[in-house]
Amino acid sequence: MALICGHDAPAYGLPLCEHIRNATAEPLDHYLHYTGRGLERQRVCGICRHEPADEKASTTEAATVAAVCEDCFDATEGSLLGVFGHPGTIDESRPVRGIVETTALPDEAGKVLDIAPTNDGIVLLCEDGRILRRHIESGRCTEVARSTITVPADAEPWCGRTQTLRLHASRDGAFAAVVIDYGRTGEVIDLSTGAVTLPLENDGYHSDTVPFSLAFTEHAGRVVVLHRRQWSLIEATDPATGAQVACMPTGDDGSAPWAGHFHGALYPSPAGSRCASDAWVWHPSGRPVAWNLDQWLTEGERAWTEDIDWAGLPGCAYYWDRSLVRLDEDRLVLEGLGDVEEELVPGARVFDLGRRGPDGPGGSAEPVETVTFAGPRGRFFAADGLLFSSSESGFEIWNPATGARLGTLAGFRPTHHDPIRGELIELSAIGLRRWRTADATA
Ligand SMILES: [Zn+2]
Ligand SMILES: [Zn+2]
Repeated sequence: MALICGHDAPAYGLPLCEHIRNATAEPLDHYLHYTGRGLERQRVCGICRHEPADEKASTTEAATVAAVCEDCFDATEGSLLGVFGHPGTIDESRPVRGIVETTALPDEAGKVLDIAPTNDGIVLLCEDGRILRRHIESGRCTEVARSTITVPADAEPWCGRTQTLRLHASRDGAFAAVVIDYGRTGEVIDLSTGAVTLPLENDGYHSDTVPFSLAFTEHAGRVVVLHRRQWSLIEATDPATGAQVACMPTGDDGSAPWAGHFHGALYPSPAGSRCASDAWVWHPSGRPVAWNLDQWLTEGERAWTEDIDWAGLPGCAYYWDRSLVRLDEDRLVLEGLGDVEEELVPGARVFDLGRRGPDGPGGSAEPVETVTFAGPRGRFFAADGLLFSSSESGFEIWNPATGARLGTLAGFRPTHHDPIRGELIELSAIGLRRWRTADATA
């Protein structure tokens, strides 16, 4: 059956309003309209944009918006004027169990900039550079190290990204790293001695666009620290000695699929089988990537001459440094729906890195996107098979298999996840505000 454009061809792209379809002189600019029916989207012109958003108006729209073929769609390509309407969300909210408990931090800690949960208590980074360990049972804080990393006084924010001190710690609590997100320097510290075992400095090449790439993981029974010294290369180092464990080949001729990525925040999977990086590529376009971490750390650079399960996730123009969490070894969740920053609406996209779709233009298949749903915004956390989001609009619990919102908790803005004790933690001026993730399913 022929489309409304008169061509007997498959429908292509988004449905268009009749003004856009019938524009003869030159293409009309468009708004992206979320109809509220699931994730349904349309392109409508400025005239349609101004119709009142009542029931009658939406039936009028339904009568005038229709899909066309690829040639006709491409011929209408104008510029984006904005986004209006909202995607539909599934609400299965029930009262959330559990309470937010507050643990005060000792006065002598002063202002705490960041925290990192470990098997051996929670490690705190104080404003004056002291690193304290808060013992779980006694609640006492002991000074274990002092960091000398400071944000340069003349540091200028890039597009709202302000250089900030950030603390990481290995799960066993043996090592910490203090780095400057959106900056160049950092250090890895052995918390049993307080000694710096690995000074960190990246090449500064667009390093102000990304959090300092660093993550602790474990491989073959020992702790490994992953970090970026050169913009496009992640290396793995033994945090005890500073000795290199594995590096990525440069791929300098640009032909390797992993070449040309400006690496950002690193996300090893919980058991360390895969690593994801919230990277971007020139022009700029956010393009998170993932690879087989276990294979790399086992085989070293040779692993890159084989199939290292390199995966490039769908790009998003001008947008990276977004929430990304691991549901398990294979599945990760990306924040934001849309392919261009100015089109983005709050939502979550679940990808299965163990499954590949058909080959794309470069012969590389993207991981299968298994679930896509609107609603989650802000920081994401994952535990017990659930997705949690934390933003100005509140704390929300989501089912990442169905996309349904399961509950909300007012006045709680978690900033950290403590997978060891199963808690989400809000680092606040009054101390640590803690809520047990298991209460979401109780
Ligand atoms: Zn129109
Ligand atoms: Zn057509």
